[in-house]
Amino acid sequence: MKDINSGNIHMLESMILNAENICIVTHMKPDGDAMGSSTALYHYLMKLGKTSKIVINDPYPSYLSFLISEDLGRNIITYESQPSHATDAISGSDLIICLDFNAFHRTDRLEEALYQSTGRKILIDHHLNPARELFDLSFSEIEVSSASELLYHILMETSVINKDTARLGNECAQALMTGMTTDTNNFANSVFPSTLHMASDLLAAGTDRDYILNRIYNQYGENRLRLMGHMMKDLMKITSDGVAYIMLDKQTQEAYSTAEGDTEGFVNMPLSIAEVRMSILAKEDTDRIRISIRSKRGTSANMCARRFFNGGGHENAAGGRLLIPDNVNGIDEVGDYIERTTHIFLNDEDNK
Ligand code: 5GP
Ligand code: MN
Repeated sequence: MKDINSGNIHMLESMILNAENICIVTHMKPDGDAMGSSTALYHYLMKLGKTSKIVINDPYPSYLSFLISEDLGRNIITYESQPSHATDAISGSDLIICLDFNAFHRTDRLEEALYQSTGRKILIDHHLNPARELFDLSFSEIEVSSASELLYHILMETSVINKDTARLGNECAQALMTGMTTDTNNFANSVFPSTLHMASDLLAAGTDRDYILNRIYNQYGENRLRLMGHMMKDLMKITSDGVAYIMLDKQTQEAYSTAEGDTEGFVNMPLSIAEVRMSILAKEDTDRIRISIRSKRGTSANMCARRFFNGGGHENAAGGRLLIPDNVNGIDEVGDYIERTTHIFLNDEDNK
């Protein structure tokens, strides 16, 4: 991991030491890795005697609430409910640490405040195409499972932790294990030798993985499983190119009382079908249609998201959005759009 070297670690430590107001920023609609890495960093900074703010565009999903103690909760600012508080926190910070995203637009309505901010900025991320020019210091590695794993390897090199996992403390360790676990789908993808080293060291230090797994995977409402059944049985379509896609409109989300995070992981399921090369979930949101893409080896979800869905991500797991009316006039047109664009994309890829 070339960005983790003594020069950069030293710079990170001195930037933290010299900062008076620190905020941690992560991507919109935060997932387990976004919240895991952000809260882990919060706990590390507390160890150094620095109380930071975590600023996010949207509320975190309730299944991650076990990571948020009362104290920590008071230091999370959500743009959705406190817009000026959120942008003030960014503009009032002399150090902004950005986790689990590669460019400011991934923070949605925090983007402008980040561009305007005069504070120094640090990036800790594992996505392709990082906008390094926006940061004073970047830790960007794509050969890691998650931002949480990358943060773990960084923290190990700091003088306070000094390669002793136990020094992270339970809360920090638990948050890092959570972020790595959700981004790998519980070790199903993006697992590197370094990922298993991290997991092994965290386990040895006493992190309670059974508790974490129970909190992440066994606390959903009945509605979620019923929705999954409906999606796979009635809504999934498979094109002759081997693209499985599902359109989840607002009406269906309401009928199943779908909360943020309830559809987590569903987009992976169609890949279990032999002839499916790529799976797309289109979810109707207020002013856009959110897109999640997963692909098998040899097909690039990232390139497809960049070319046709205003997004990007990783080679086999990416996301984006369709804008109304720029790309489609409504959810009814999304099926046609997906069939047409993936046909072009897969034929171009095959003929490369
Ligand atoms: P998910 O499908 O789980 O929402 O996202 C999968 C991956 O794609 C994540 O790593 C996420 O960061 C990335 N991603 C999701 N939405 C977008 C987007 O709108 N733009 C970009 N550049 N990446 C995205
Ligand atoms: Mn991530």
